[in-house]
Order: sequence, then structure tokens, then C-alpha cells
Amino acid sequence: MPELPEVETIKNDLKEKILDKKIIKITCRKRKIVKNNFNFFLNTLIGNKFSNIKRIGKLLIFEINRENLYLLIHLKMTGQLVYCPSRGIVAGGHSYPEQKNTVESAAEAMCLPNKYSHVIFNFADGSNLFFNDMRQFGYFKTVRKDELEIIKKNFGIEPLASNFKLNNFKRIFIKRKAPVKALLLNQKLIAGIGNIYADEILFSAKIKPDRRADSLTGGDMEKIFKAGKLIIKKAIKHRGTTFNNYIDASGRKGNYSRLLKVYKREGEQCLICKNIIKKIKVAGRGTRYCPKCQK
Ligand SMILES: [Zn+2]
Repeated sequence: MPELPEVETIKNDLKEKILDKKIIKITCRKRKIVKNNFNFFLNTLIGNKFSNIKRIGKLLIFEINRENLYLLIHLKMTGQLVYCPSRGIVAGGHSYPEQKNTVESAAEAMCLPNKYSHVIFNFADGSNLFFNDMRQFGYFKTVRKDELEIIKKNFGIEPLASNFKLNNFKRIFIKRKAPVKALLLNQKLIAGIGNIYADEILFSAKIKPDRRADSLTGGDMEKIFKAGKLIIKKAIKHRGTTFNNYIDASGRKGNYSRLLKVYKREGEQCLICKNIIKKIKVAGRGTRYCPKCQK
């Protein structure tokens, strides 16, 4: 699933491509992807433009150039937004196994609607935005401002926001018995961190993912906080982590994957102590850690 750095990358790339373009047609082949009354959905979008794109956690928020209306898009497990100008390609999300291996051929293949292209936006300048989703957990929803404000309340502190301060961060862990990793993954507490970055942050902070949160010292929490900030920023700088031909919204692969220290490295040597990286289950998720470095 794309996490904060991947969704941030897609947002930034799409902002350069689709803002202020008139939406002239929307094709929806799987109604369940659209979580609205379908006519309301179309009426809020057709003939309008996106004036800005924002993000909270892993949720994309497209501002519509009509007062107080927004389109929300969540990519969930396998959702992919692919922007196709008349020539060339801009894509974001995960590509699919049957696609060819080079960025160019995958890009070309993605510029045609395939059996996973459930929603297609046509813009007045001839460009298109495809939403492809193999597993169909992703969704679209147009909302008014008051609804958006309610939805935003379900998200915890945002690692890139100004209120992401050590004191706010510490409050997440205090008096909680849950494993540290479960709290990092809880979107209502911190928005945008998923399985990849939770493992990487805890490795960097030298904290074992299944440690009970109420056993953390102030110093431990500070280490996790600092690691979180650093890793999320670094991952955005590298345009996220990509697996299975993941292609970001510019047709370029994110290259944070080569910087991963524990994620998907179980059975391999720890890059610091040479001990073997282990895989356990924490909060129902495959979790990698170094038994020697992380306490
Ligand atoms: Zn180690």
C-alpha cells in the first residue's frame, strides 16, 4: 500500500499536471469505487477543474473550483492514478505484474484503459487520468467542506505538519499497553505511516516493534520521533519506495527501496551488527527487526 511518502509524491506530481484543466467526461466502470450518489458525484465534477491537491495521511484531497467541494481519492492496497497527456505518461501507484519491465513499456501499457481501469477522467486538453485498481479497495468520494472537516478528525498528527512536535508525539504512547508498532500504524494517532516505514523507523530508533508502549522511556520516544521525521522526509526526497514496478506520478520509480534497512530483509544480515534480521507478526502485520540492535 502506498504510504505517506508515496502519496505525497503522487500529489506533488499530479499538481503539476492536472490543475486548472476542465473535466469534460468521467467514465466509471465499477460503481462501487464511487462512494457517492453517482449523479451528485458527476455534478460536482463535470465542467469543473481542480484548483489544488492536498493530502492527509494516505488520503488525496482534490479541491474543486466550486465553493466548498472536494474529491477524495484513497488508493488503498493496489490503486493507481495514471495521468496520460496526449504524448508521454505520468503515473502513480503500483503497476501490475503482467506489465513489461521497462518504465517506458509499462508507461505505454498504462496509457490504455485495461481491465483494472475503473474510473477515467477526460480533460478538455485531451489528457486523461486513469484510476486502475486490481483489488478494488480504493475509492472516490466527493464531499462538502463540513464533511471533509469531519473526515479530517479521524486522522492523527501528520508527520509533515507544524504540530508534529515531540510533546504531541509522546502523548500517543503514554499509558498504552499496545506494541509500539501498532500505535505507529494507527492512522487515528499518526497519519500516513504504514508497514514499511514503521519497521524502518523502529530500526533506526533501535526499538523492538513489539515493545509495550508504556515501557518506553522519554528518550526512546524522542528517538522514534526523530527517526520518524528523518525517514519520512528522506523517503519523500527519494520519491518513495517501489516494489513490483511501482511507478510514481512522473513515470519515474521511487528509489527509497535501496535505502531500506529491515523491510523485506528478513534472513539477511543487519547492516549495523551483521546479526540476522528476523520476521515476526506485530499487530497482524509482517514485521522485520534486528534482535540485537533493537531493544
Ligand atoms: Zn543489528
